[in-house]
Amino acid sequence: MSDNAKRIAFEWVDSNERRLAEISDEIWGYAELGYVEFKSAKLLANELEKHGFKVERGVAGIPTAFVGTWGKGKPVIGVMGEYDALPGLSQKAVPHKEPTKAGEPGHGCGHNIHGTSALGGAIALRYAMEKAGVKGTVKFFGCPAEEMLSGKVWMVREGVFDGVDAVLSHHPSSMNVGGLSSSNANNAVKFHFRGKTAHAAGNPEMGRSSLDAVELMNIGVNFLREHVIDKARIHYVIEEGGGQPNVVPDYARSWYYIRAPERDQLEPIYERILKIAEGAALMTETELKVEFIKGIYNKLPNKVLSDAVTANMRAIGPPEYTEEEMSFAEEVSKSISEDSKRTTLWKTKRPGWEKLMDVVMDRTVPDAWNDGEVSHGSTDVSDVSWQTPTMEFSTATYSLGTPGHSWQNVVYSGMSIGHKSLLFASKVIAATAIDFLTDPELLKAAWEELDRRKAGRTYKSPIPEDLDPPLNQWKK
Ligand SMILES: [Zn+2]
Repeated sequence: MSDNAKRIAFEWVDSNERRLAEISDEIWGYAELGYVEFKSAKLLANELEKHGFKVERGVAGIPTAFVGTWGKGKPVIGVMGEYDALPGLSQKAVPHKEPTKAGEPGHGCGHNIHGTSALGGAIALRYAMEKAGVKGTVKFFGCPAEEMLSGKVWMVREGVFDGVDAVLSHHPSSMNVGGLSSSNANNAVKFHFRGKTAHAAGNPEMGRSSLDAVELMNIGVNFLREHVIDKARIHYVIEEGGGQPNVVPDYARSWYYIRAPERDQLEPIYERILKIAEGAALMTETELKVEFIKGIYNKLPNKVLSDAVTANMRAIGPPEYTEEEMSFAEEVSKSISEDSKRTTLWKTKRPGWEKLMDVVMDRTVPDAWNDGEVSHGSTDVSDVSWQTPTMEFSTATYSLGTPGHSWQNVVYSGMSIGHKSLLFASKVIAATAIDFLTDPELLKAAWEELDRRKAGRTYKSPIPEDLDPPLNQWKK
């Protein structure tokens, strides 16, 4: 039954290639930032409805979060799709740096592909289930604001993922792999200091500088670095530091990211940073307001899901590229220095990475090599991974060595190499979901692994109970 179901799913993807590429390109063109992905979310949700999914919009108090459901009863397989862009990365789909509109957002993480591969996978799966008589439910999770505001954490808090037996999603990358690395837990917090303005030369004794508070807080945190675990990462920007030197600023604001490999390693560092912020306010006689933007967990990988994804990627086979596509990719990859490519590949720790130095597009499917590694970034996929067995696999979309969140990523995500990556991923999603819908032993093994990796720890939402999602971040 499962082979027949997979064949039906692949045929659906093949005969809907053009429509899927169109949807991806449309979202690429919208390039909407987190929580304001109104057009992108609507396009995906409408398409699901066209194919018989029941769609609930505005879940977890977020207008651009939605859940599409098809089928009934157990097992329930979830597919996650993201569709938010990154600020400042506007770029045409040409092999050199050229913004469509300078300073505007762009899909530098390929989330137009992320959302569309998930859509293709979920719809293909739904037809395969219907025609091959596979029982169960498929749920499409429309997940906004992954990049900077972590929409999934709010969806998890509202119980949106409850009762789901396994979750799959796809992320564009330069390799085809069911990755097993974990990711850093993360808090993002803004510190608002309010003081008293005064003429900086005329009556400075009357002023209470909010900028002093921001700077003293940063100094405190930089001294703290000596006394945190080696693997912690703390970084900040000053978002607002006053207008001109001859006016004591009465308002200043910093934005911090605090990361550590495990959630319970992060919490004590965060507590100390809060004390430093209070200390800075005390020293400068300013008022402090702490704005919690997001908190996320470290990711729990799942080898049972990864193995299934790897097997399906090999059975389907990664895309082939035309001569034209290859020369396009070669042209783009010329913008990446050899040094930069070497560092990027070396950092993946993939066995034999040296041999990839002369390769432009990776067409291999290696076994996942990174179990036990922690990637330095953070993602809200992690919070889902504590609820149910979760796999975010990647497929080659960018030439090898392309840096993350770059204009080159925007280019590949908006042309045929990106389309091929997403069609491949849609098939992998559908095929892997069919494996788990038709083999209860696989699901059982995935859950046993999740329990083992949780090691008795329970998930507690990292966001304060009374906090609503920060929907208006871009209006400030
Ligand atoms: Zn991403």
